[in-house]
Amino acid sequence: MLKNKNAVITGSTSGIGLGLAEALAHAGCNIMLNGLGDTTEIEQTRASLEKRSGVKVLFNGANMLKPEEIDGLIEQTEADLGGLDILINNAGIQHVSPIEDFPPEKWQAIIGINLSSAFFTTRAAVPKMKARGWGRIINLASAHALVASPFKCAYVAAKHGIAGLTKTVALELAEHNITANAICPGYVLTPLVEKQIPDTAKARGITEEEVKRDVLLAAQPTKEFATTEQIGALAVFLCSDAAESMTGAMIPVDGGWTAQ
Ligand code: NAD
Repeated sequence: MLKNKNAVITGSTSGIGLGLAEALAHAGCNIMLNGLGDTTEIEQTRASLEKRSGVKVLFNGANMLKPEEIDGLIEQTEADLGGLDILINNAGIQHVSPIEDFPPEKWQAIIGINLSSAFFTTRAAVPKMKARGWGRIINLASAHALVASPFKCAYVAAKHGIAGLTKTVALELAEHNITANAICPGYVLTPLVEKQIPDTAKARGITEEEVKRDVLLAAQPTKEFATTEQIGALAVFLCSDAAESMTGAMIPVDGGWTAQ
């Protein structure tokens, strides 16, 4: 379905990003992986995906806090894959604490990685997509792009920001055959969520089991976590010709959370 397309996915060494890479690669798309982590493990992930999917899978370790490394990621994707058709802005981190204790350096890092990096990747990728006359930009936002939760001021601000960026870019590119949409997952059991359980327990004065039951799954009427496979399948659809008229959309995958 996506044969001869080339995608760059930020933060794809783990969790949802890796699920997106799996889904796109198995749909025939060449992939530029990106993210932080142990280089030996990343190379195993890259080689395994390449072997199982039969597409070209490369890796670039650009830090999403460094604009010049982001430019390098976009340039390397075009040079080594032979073009850039699909940009998925997925890299993200979280920090949970009351606003009066929220460390300023965590605020800066969350805004930098979860929001500003998408500005820098998009800015660099758009001329290449315009030149090819086709493109797909998918931003991994969150239910927190649509509604807030306490103790997540930087994350909620960044995700509401990415909703605005997505809509603006969609309008600017509407006549260029380039769409921009945001996927807004509820809770997906990835390392990002697992790491915030102890801090949420502390901030709310409850146990970790209570966090899972009364905070995380309480938000989702289905009482089920969303999965990386579901998000991957949606991204493949958004990259298809059938989704040509979908642009500027915020698409929840949240078990009904934001319907309430
Ligand atoms: P994760 O922690 O499993 O993966 C995050 C990825 O981002 C990793 O590959 C990591 O290496 C990369 N990353 C972090 N800092 C980076 C940096 N400075 N430069 C480059 N890469 C960096 O997290 P996840 O749950 O898979 O989250 C992926 C995206 O989905 C995030 O934007 C997150 O906000 C969003 N999201 C997650 C959930 C959820 O419940 N897990 C829900 C809604 C939205």
